[in-house]
Amino acid sequence: MNNNSPNLFQINLPRFQSWLTIVAICLLLGSLGLGWLVKAASIAIGLVIITPVVGFLGFFWWLRRSVVQAECPVCSYPLQGINGSEIQCTNCGELLNVDRGKLIRDTPPDTIDVIAVEVIQE
Ligand SMILES: [Zn+2]
Repeated sequence: MNNNSPNLFQINLPRFQSWLTIVAICLLLGSLGLGWLVKAASIAIGLVIITPVVGFLGFFWWLRRSVVQAECPVCSYPLQGINGSEIQCTNCGELLNVDRGKLIRDTPPDTIDVIAVEVIQE
C-alpha cells in the first residue's frame, strides 16, 4: 500500500522539475537584467503559436468568401467551386468557370450556343 504513492510522486516529479527549471532560468535571467531576453523569447513563442492560428482563421475567412455553391447550367447538378477557378461538372463533365457566385459554361469564344428546338431529319 505504502509503496505506490512514492512511485507516483517519482513519476510526476521530472516533469514538475523541468517546469521549475524553466521558471528558475527565467527568474535568473530577469534578475541578471536580461528580462528583455525573457520578453523576446515569450514574444517569439507567442508568434509561433499565434501565426498559424491567424493563418488558419484567415484561410477559413477567405474560403467562406470564395466558395461558390451553384447548380451546373447544363444538368442542374449541385456543384461547389472557388471564385475565379475552373471546375468540371462531376455529373456531365462540362467545363465551367466560377465567376462572382455563378457557374458559367466554358465554351470557346467562337462557339454560338444554340438550343435545337426542332430537328428535321431527312
Ligand atoms: Zn453538369
